[in-house]
Amino acid sequence: MSNYLLSKIKIRGLYNSFLLGYDLGQVPPPKFVVWDCTRRCNLNCKHCGAKKEVYLKELTTSQVKDLVKKISEYKSEYFVVTGGEPLLREDIFEIFSFAKEIGLKTGIATNGFFVDKNNSKAISENFDSAQISLDGSLYVHNKIRGDNSSFQRAIEAVSFLQRAHCRQITICSVITPENFNDLNNLAKKIEELKVDIWKITSVMPIGRVEKNDNLFLNDEQFRNLLLFIKKNKKKLRIRLGENLGHLGKDDKEYRDEPFFCPVGFLTCCIGVDGSVRGCPEQPDNQLFREGNILENDFKEIWEKGFKKYRNKNFLEDKNCKKCIFKNDCRGGCWVMRLKSLQCSIMRYSLL
Ligand code: SF4
Ligand code: SF4
Repeated sequence: MSNYLLSKIKIRGLYNSFLLGYDLGQVPPPKFVVWDCTRRCNLNCKHCGAKKEVYLKELTTSQVKDLVKKISEYKSEYFVVTGGEPLLREDIFEIFSFAKEIGLKTGIATNGFFVDKNNSKAISENFDSAQISLDGSLYVHNKIRGDNSSFQRAIEAVSFLQRAHCRQITICSVITPENFNDLNNLAKKIEELKVDIWKITSVMPIGRVEKNDNLFLNDEQFRNLLLFIKKNKKKLRIRLGENLGHLGKDDKEYRDEPFFCPVGFLTCCIGVDGSVRGCPEQPDNQLFREGNILENDFKEIWEKGFKKYRNKNFLEDKNCKKCIFKNDCRGGCWVMRLKSLQCSIMRYSLL
């Protein structure tokens, strides 16, 4: 049996057992808790989903440690951090060494700029996995990131982490019309770097992209990207960003595991000021907020919130209702849905 089919069976089983328990009032804890730790960042990437929003207060070290203790007692397995740039938080190692000490698995998503010889050991010790962004070869990456040293710093970050024996390194690349023609150069670099995973994704209609539709691939580019992925997926260990949604009858040609949005079933995200939403890509606003850990108990927010994900609200969409992939796709990505972009099958005529 293929990995794809096995994962599909596993995911269906997960939905069914979760929803059975949910109907009986028994909600299992989230397996992954993501912490969107800051909106501060040293770079200015054109496609960023954050707008460097200013929060008057970020959670304090002790508030985060308290959360970490709670989620560990609640039997969540993973605590991972993203931003903004997480390495701008001075307490990042204190918090994550504590998380590891009490048995959580950990991960970090960073632009790599601040990874150096001195902290790479601490990163490798305190995080089970690290994800670094790389969007093209030298000129293209630096132009997108708005900083002439960002490419070099990202490449060096990978090499420092490899020398410090980081357990899993992922490169994440966001493909837009700006780097689409640089894909082969980028692939060559990924091959040279010998990272564990290459995650390929596209922009979402949030942050700086909200008002910039030019950053979405056109039909031809998207279909060519899929062909590229199909051809290189094994050699370069490519994984697709979930926001691309279900890709129709050929979904298994592009990924080893079917599309799955884990929000409300396996995952939730703690925002900069303690608000709780589904995932870090979801804008931190009323549409997605389910509560705040400074005001309500985290367990209660998880168990009583997240109704729209668990109640099959996606079937209100007439296309989803009659779709043959609805039991796997469940309406696609909730962030892409903000601009009705959730269905790649219809957008790119993939059926
Ligand atoms: S119609 Fe809805 S359920 Fe079907 S693939 Fe598109 S987004 Fe997913
Ligand atoms: S809402 Fe979209 S970006 Fe967030 S976890 Fe689901 S598929 Fe991924």
